[in-house]
Amino acid sequence: MSFVLKESIKGTKYYVIDEFNKTKMVKTCFTTRIGGVSNGEFSTLNMGTKTSDKKENIIKNYEILCDALGTSIENLVLSDQVHGDKIKIVHMDDRGKGLLCENPIKEIDGLITSQKGVCLVTQYADCVPIYILDKKNKVIALVHSGWRGTVKKISKRAIEIMKDVYNTNPIDCLGAIGPSIGLCCYEVDKGVIGEFEKNFNNIEDFVKNKKSGKYNLDLWEANKSILKDIGFKEENIIVSHVCTMCNEELFSYRRDKGNTGRMVAMIELL
Ligand SMILES: [Zn+2]
Repeated sequence: MSFVLKESIKGTKYYVIDEFNKTKMVKTCFTTRIGGVSNGEFSTLNMGTKTSDKKENIIKNYEILCDALGTSIENLVLSDQVHGDKIKIVHMDDRGKGLLCENPIKEIDGLITSQKGVCLVTQYADCVPIYILDKKNKVIALVHSGWRGTVKKISKRAIEIMKDVYNTNPIDCLGAIGPSIGLCCYEVDKGVIGEFEKNFNNIEDFVKNKKSGKYNLDLWEANKSILKDIGFKEENIIVSHVCTMCNEELFSYRRDKGNTGRMVAMIELL
């Protein structure tokens, strides 16, 4: 079991994380591009609030998704992602920020909450979504971890904050690594690999050398190793193994040369 693809009665497709949902503590999802109202390069379920898509279409897509998931658009809190490692704890009074009202949550790539009905939302087109559920203390986190976020070990940062504020022990946590660009498609140059060499002592586990001086990078394995290092049990880390560039039902920044929509990861405490 892992990420399971669902389809609503109205034809909207999204993944849920089985192991997370089975706890009955959370709702989770990762969207596809299927079942929305946007057109052209954004067709059809574009959730990217910073794209040039019509605002009314983006809002409609969020309404369609919330309807399918059984949550309210008023519950959503969006981050303002900049490929950094800053994380913010959000509360009831943050709901609506980034979508229904202005977003004062600036330069934040990870969100944490312990409050029910606060739905964390981060946006993607190839970068890696990391979901965390502390089952004991009922705290959730959602982290946007592209290669820069992975180098900065943003998921470790999230756990450190959860430890400080909520007394989280990684042994009580589930982690999930969502759909994103896979080793199969993610070619990077030596400069990127150099950044990883500075911060990891196991890069042979997730970097494959290619003859042309290019490298293939496995961000799923890199993020899994970060979670294991902080104390997650291996069996509590779920990896989707869905590559955004290979899968035509997903937006991919690299495949579509930047001209594309965004998917969202969501998690909400029940
Ligand atoms: Zn691929």
